Amino acid sequence: MLTGMMMNRPLLISGLIDFASEVYGTIPMVSQTVEGGIHRYTFADSRKRIAKLANALIAMGVKPGDRVATLAWNGYRHFELYYAISGIGAVCHTINPRLSAEQFIYVVNHAEDTALFFDITFAPIVEKFKAHWKPVKTYVAMTDAAHMPDMAGALCYETLIAPASDQIVWPDFPEDTAAALCYTSGTTGDPKGALYSHRSTVLHSLYSVATINMAFGSDRSILPVVPLFHVNAWGLPYSAAITGTTLIFPGAKLDGASLFELMESEHASGSWGVPTVWLGLLAEMKKRGRKPVGLKHVLIGGSAAPKPMIETFEKDYGITVLQGWGMTEMSPLGTVGHLLPEEENLDFAERVELKAKQGRRVYGVDLKIVDEAGTRLPHDDVASGELFVRGNAIVSGYYKNEGASVRALDKEGWFATGDVARIAANGMLTIVDRTKDLVKSGGEWISSIDVENAAMAHTGLANCAVIGIPHPKWTERPVLVAVKAPGAEPSKDEILKLLDSKLAKWQLPDDVIFVEALPIGPTGKVSKRDLRAKFADYKLPEAG
Ligand code: AMP
Repeated sequence: MLTGMMMNRPLLISGLIDFASEVYGTIPMVSQTVEGGIHRYTFADSRKRIAKLANALIAMGVKPGDRVATLAWNGYRHFELYYAISGIGAVCHTINPRLSAEQFIYVVNHAEDTALFFDITFAPIVEKFKAHWKPVKTYVAMTDAAHMPDMAGALCYETLIAPASDQIVWPDFPEDTAAALCYTSGTTGDPKGALYSHRSTVLHSLYSVATINMAFGSDRSILPVVPLFHVNAWGLPYSAAITGTTLIFPGAKLDGASLFELMESEHASGSWGVPTVWLGLLAEMKKRGRKPVGLKHVLIGGSAAPKPMIETFEKDYGITVLQGWGMTEMSPLGTVGHLLPEEENLDFAERVELKAKQGRRVYGVDLKIVDEAGTRLPHDDVASGELFVRGNAIVSGYYKNEGASVRALDKEGWFATGDVARIAANGMLTIVDRTKDLVKSGGEWISSIDVENAAMAHTGLANCAVIGIPHPKWTERPVLVAVKAPGAEPSKDEILKLLDSKLAKWQLPDDVIFVEALPIGPTGKVSKRDLRAKFADYKLPEAG
């Protein structure tokens, strides 16, 4: 083997913001602030404040490798923390503010965060848990002196960075140095930490912009509804810097009307988020009879995008839908569903059919499906099995959790996603279900996603979820839990009749239960775990 004669510079996150501030220095970034009002500045302004913050962190005593926590919405100060913390070799631990009390206590202590930065809206959470967060020495409220919460000992972000120099030469260190820590929302047991490195983060953003190239550019803007506290807002702070894309941060206002107004006033060309947030936006668009001016694409990920949602965006409003599949453990992008030219020429129904699948792999991600014995299954769009992934932006284990780390990888070193999937010869991935959410009926598996997709075609439903209920003969049977659309009165029989026309008899739910709302988990997705707990004592009509 002959070694190539090329330089080997470490792939560091600091290089992204240096690049953006020079090449895209005038490109704006917009934030809806938690104090009220809109904040605007450019990548060049941002780099200066990031340098100030980095210098302030060093002065505060933050050392390379220290974990520094954030508890914050999407906004410019959170963006600054991302770059300043990782830039000096420390680790930015983004905490999900929707965790349970137990999880809040666990993640901060497990990460051993030495400092915690919080948005003023989260001051009550900090007050509540401070006594339990033993490793945290410094609390910083992400605001100015005028808006400081009444909290003993808390520092003020603006006061902290004001005297610091806005110049910094970033330190060089190995590219596999840890940069960010995000805990999985965890369906069972304690949350598990995905510890991203500089290298994995830079590569992930390159993979992302190479694959979703239509979304990025210095003439484009993206409104990340997906939070900075969940898998780095799907990498947007980094991919926006590489491409000079304007970010429009929505702060704490994530309801349909607020999103519509911000998208419209700031001319968002794209927006990324989980399906539940789009329900709110679509309701607002229906009310106004139009889309926010300039909105061209939405990226829907985190859970399956329901077919009727894709249809409405595309047909009624001319907004291109891209579906993305991924995981916290994958940084997160795994696949993206844009179509090839020959697929764009298909008729509308066929295109929607394809867009309801999870898409093709992003460059840098390898996929395989296996049966229960671990034997590879063919990519023929028929065989379904557990999905495993491999790549440079995928975890090799969990932070300080040896047991979970060992269980996460197979003998070949691939990561077990916990999803069941089919893969077509042309690379198109279909997620059948989460292993835990499949309904095991007799010897067959029923995909809860398939039944939900079929039911959502009923215009009288706002949202729905399918769960398995224990059954004496069949092990489990599916039950559809549904929320009625405003003003609609769909009946159980109507919905079962519709499903009967789309599904096999044995896949039909044994019951349809109407509820006011579905439980939403920490990452904004419908929580089937909570739903199963809610219906733990429920008896199927036939099983008595
Ligand atoms: P998280 O780590 O919280 O982002 O959750 C990752 C899981 O969400 C995946 O393993 C999938 O089960 C699910 N998921 C993410 N995106 C999709 C999608 N487009 N369709 C179906 N399931 C998805």
